[in-house]
Amino acid sequence: MKLSRRRFAASTGLFTLSGLTGASAVHAADAGLRSDGTPGRIIHLVSDGMSAGTFSCADQFSWLVRKRPLAWTTLYERADAVAALVNMRSLNSSVTDSAAAASSWGSGSRVRNGSVNVLPDGRELKPLYDLFGDKDWARGLVTTTEITHATPAGFAANALDRGSAELIATQYLDRGIEVLLGGGEQFFDPASRADKRDLKADYRAKGYRVMSSRSELESAPASGRWLGTFTRSHLPYSIDHEADEGLRKAVPTLAEMTRAALRRLGGERHFILQVEGGRVDHAAHGSDAAALMWDQLAFDDALAACLEFQRQTPDTLVVVTTDHGNSNPGLNGMGSGYASSVPLFASIKQVKKSLTLLQKDFSRAADSPGLTPQVVKSLVLEGTGCELTASQAEGFARYLEGQQPPLYAMMNGWSAQMGQLLANHLGIGWSGTAHTSDYVPLVAVGRGAERFRGFLQNTDLFHHYLALVRVDYRNPELPLMAESGPSAAEAEGWLLA
Ligand SMILES: [Zn+2]
Repeated sequence: MKLSRRRFAASTGLFTLSGLTGASAVHAADAGLRSDGTPGRIIHLVSDGMSAGTFSCADQFSWLVRKRPLAWTTLYERADAVAALVNMRSLNSSVTDSAAAASSWGSGSRVRNGSVNVLPDGRELKPLYDLFGDKDWARGLVTTTEITHATPAGFAANALDRGSAELIATQYLDRGIEVLLGGGEQFFDPASRADKRDLKADYRAKGYRVMSSRSELESAPASGRWLGTFTRSHLPYSIDHEADEGLRKAVPTLAEMTRAALRRLGGERHFILQVEGGRVDHAAHGSDAAALMWDQLAFDDALAACLEFQRQTPDTLVVVTTDHGNSNPGLNGMGSGYASSVPLFASIKQVKKSLTLLQKDFSRAADSPGLTPQVVKSLVLEGTGCELTASQAEGFARYLEGQQPPLYAMMNGWSAQMGQLLANHLGIGWSGTAHTSDYVPLVAVGRGAERFRGFLQNTDLFHHYLALVRVDYRNPELPLMAESGPSAAEAEGWLLA
C-alpha cells in the first residue's frame, strides 16, 4: 500500500520525535519534509576500517599512480552531495567492531561488539534486508571478505557470535537474499562444514546460480538469484591479486563484482545493495601500507561503478562510508622541512607484495638459510624495494629471536614490527593494530541524500533507509553499557539539550 504524501510527512515526524536523538533528529525532520521523492535503488558502500589517514593517503596515492583523485574525493566537489560525520560506537564501547557497526546500520539498535543483530540478552533484531524484502525490494551483498563476514551479515543475518559463519550462510538461503558475491566458499561446502550439509546444493535447489569463478560471473545471465564464492576464505589483497596472473583470471575484483551485481539488480524495480571493501580493514590491522593503498583504490573503482550507475539511474541513492577507524595510519613529516615525505610515500609503488606474503617468505627462510640480518635485509628488499640499514636489519633479526621485545604491547606482532620498520622507508606510521573510536566520514548523493547531513549516530542510517521506503519499524534498543564510559552518554545528552 502506498502512503499519501501527507501521511508520509506525518509518519516521518512521529518517527523522528520517538526515534532519533539529538542534532540528527532535527536534520531528519527537515529533510523528510523537504524530500522531493524516494529512491528506487539504494547502494551502501563500506570501506571497512578506513581511518581518515587512509582516505587522505589513498587520494594522494591515486594522484601518484593514476594521475587523478579518488572518486570519493570528487564527491565532495558535487553540489548535490551531502557529507556527514558518524558516531559508530557500539553498545559496550566507544570503539566498535565490524559486527556491531554493521548491526547498527542493519537494525537501528546498538549491540555488543562481536554480535550480529542480537542483543546481549539473546533477543534477535529484525535486519534491514528482511524489512526491504517484505517490501519486494531485491537485495544484494558484495564483499572482498568471506560473504558471511560481519559487515555483509549485519544487513541480513542474526548471530550472537559473528564467528558463526556456517549459520549465517544458511540464513542467507532461508531469507532468499538475491545476490551474494564474495569469498568464503568453505562455509557452503559439505567437506568443510561441521554439519556436512551440502549448502551449495540447497542453494541450487532454491533456484540460485552457484558460481565460483570470474568467467562464470561474467557470463551469468542477469536473472535469478546468485551465489558467487570465489575463494575459500577472503579474496586476496589487491596488490597480490594484481601480481598473480592465475588469480587475476580466476577471481573477480570488487569493481567487477559490483558491476555484475548492478547488471543483475538493475533489472529489478527496486533494489538495495551493500558493497564492502573488506580487506582495507585487514591491511590496517596488519600495518601494511601498500596493501592498504591498493585495496582502497580497488574500493574506489567499485564506488566509481556505482556513481556511473547513479548517473544513468538518477533515482538511485548512493551512500559511501566506513564503519570505524583502524590503526590510524598517516604520512608523517619526514626529513628536513618534511621534504622527504613525498619521495618516501612514492616508494610504496615499488612494494611487490602484501606483508602476509612477505611473512610467508620469512617462514620459509626461517629453517634454511635462517633469519640472519643479511637474510632479513634481502627478503625485505626483494618484497618491498626498501633497503634496510645494517642496524635496522640487525634490530629486526633480534626481535625475531625474542631479544628485543617492543615497548608498546599492541605492536608485538610480526606485521606490526615490520610495519614500524618500513615506516622509516615509506613514511607511513601507525597508532596501533586495532580499531579506533574515530567519528567516520559519510557522503551521500542521489535521491534522498539530504537526510544524511550533519553529525549522525550510526543507528540513524537504519531509520533513514526505512523512512525513504516508507516503512515504520523499530527494533528494541538497550541503554549504553556502563563500561562504555560516561563520555558518550554525556555527548548524547549535550546534543539533546
Ligand atoms: Zn569493520
